[in-house]
Amino acid sequence: MPTRRQEIIQMLEHGQMSLYQIAGYFKVELFEIEEDLEHIQVSIRPRKLKRIPSQCKQCHFVFKERTKFRTPTKCPKCRSEWITDAMFYVE
Ligand SMILES: [Zn+2]
Repeated sequence: MPTRRQEIIQMLEHGQMSLYQIAGYFKVELFEIEEDLEHIQVSIRPRKLKRIPSQCKQCHFVFKERTKFRTPTKCPKCRSEWITDAMFYVE
């Protein structure tokens, strides 16, 4: 039986998923998947856990520098709360 972390790696090798989709799939709390992703990004080296960053749907600001896995609640530029979830994948 693969561990949950191994399963997440496999899923992210084959497609892109947000933190929220992964937590929903495994029916666990967000922080558990945040811990998994923290661990995965170290354990898969030299491969990388990559992301399509969150983006503000109002002004199109891209959260390029963000290292947290959760979606930011507000855009720093226009204050909109309409923000896309970052999508993660393994490359
Ligand atoms: Zn904005």
